[in-house]
Amino acid sequence: MSTLRWGLIGTSTIAAQHMIGAIRANGGEIAAIMSASADRAATFAREHAIPRSTSRLDDLLGSDDIDAVYISTTNELHRDQVLAAANAGKHVLCEKPLSLTLDDARAMVARCRERGLVMGTNHHLRNAATHRAMREAIKAGRIGRPLFARVFHAVYLPPHLQGWRIHKPEAGGGVILDITVHDADTLRFVLDDEPVAVTAMTSQGGMGRENLEDGVMGVLRFASGLLAQCHDAFTTRYATTGFEVHGDAGSLIGTDCMTQMPKGNVMLRTKDGERQLSIAHENLYVRSVRLFQDAVAGRGSPAATGEDGIKSLSVALATREAARTGRETAIYLKV
Ligand code: NDP
Repeated sequence: MSTLRWGLIGTSTIAAQHMIGAIRANGGEIAAIMSASADRAATFAREHAIPRSTSRLDDLLGSDDIDAVYISTTNELHRDQVLAAANAGKHVLCEKPLSLTLDDARAMVARCRERGLVMGTNHHLRNAATHRAMREAIKAGRIGRPLFARVFHAVYLPPHLQGWRIHKPEAGGGVILDITVHDADTLRFVLDDEPVAVTAMTSQGGMGRENLEDGVMGVLRFASGLLAQCHDAFTTRYATTGFEVHGDAGSLIGTDCMTQMPKGNVMLRTKDGERQLSIAHENLYVRSVRLFQDAVAGRGSPAATGEDGIKSLSVALATREAARTGRETAIYLKV
């Protein structure tokens, strides 16, 4: 297929810091940027050498020079923007969480499917070489039967991102929709297993306002019987991220791997001792865009599909419900 031509919806930090570079690294062309503010769109276009800017969605979606859109607005806007893009016949790569409700997410995915369009969810951590190495090691039986997983994803939200995430519930703020949704997707991918129930407690450690949680610890039960523990926060400056899977014949200890950067390592510990897995690091977002572009060209599917977006969202929403009610909550993965 010839060059994929993209329209960007949202003058976001993630677009500026990662996705524009990832699209261009894959030979993609960025034809236009849309923002709710014409000034913001024009400034963003100038800063990132994007030829066209607009504040009107139908203007961006009505152009013939766009094949696909990348949507990275705040979460409450994803639904209508995905539906409009699908109606206009554009392939869609949408940021996580796909939406604020499962019904909305299902409608978005269904619309893209009906129109024969590729839809991906930008769950970048599936693209990390560390997580792919762990998935392969488990499939190869290196740790025997997986029994437990532990996800350490407590970070410090940098000042320039201390906006809607910590004070705007209606935009889908809070650490669960922001970070736990990624844990859920990464666990589902690495374990190749699906969670069925969750318990959780949340906390407010000084950042979250308007009742938004800025910390959470949760326990998920998977279909295989495995238990997984997640610890996510916006408020910890000095913690290390990690992802561990412990089986009856070995353990995989991933360190510094719940991150946007291609880094981290994975140690395998068994009766034979310890060894580092060989990790061929690659930019996570470049890989995400590559697989999406390949899918548009008819080869394979996005790293995380729209259906994955629904399933991972359902885990996050169930986690929030479990924390609210104090009860173990069933997870419904119906897409
Ligand atoms: P930002 O907070 O940087 O931007 C979100 C929106 O805020 C923009 O789309 C923009 O609206 C608006 N905005 C930007 N600057 C201003 C301003 N000066 N005044 C008022 N509004 C402004 O978002 P993030 O990049 O942090 O997140 C965007 C999406 O991407 C979310 O869905 C998030 O969950 C997801 N995300 C995913 C990551 C991943 O690794 N997969 C990592 C980080 C975020 P407009 O478009 O109208 O200009």
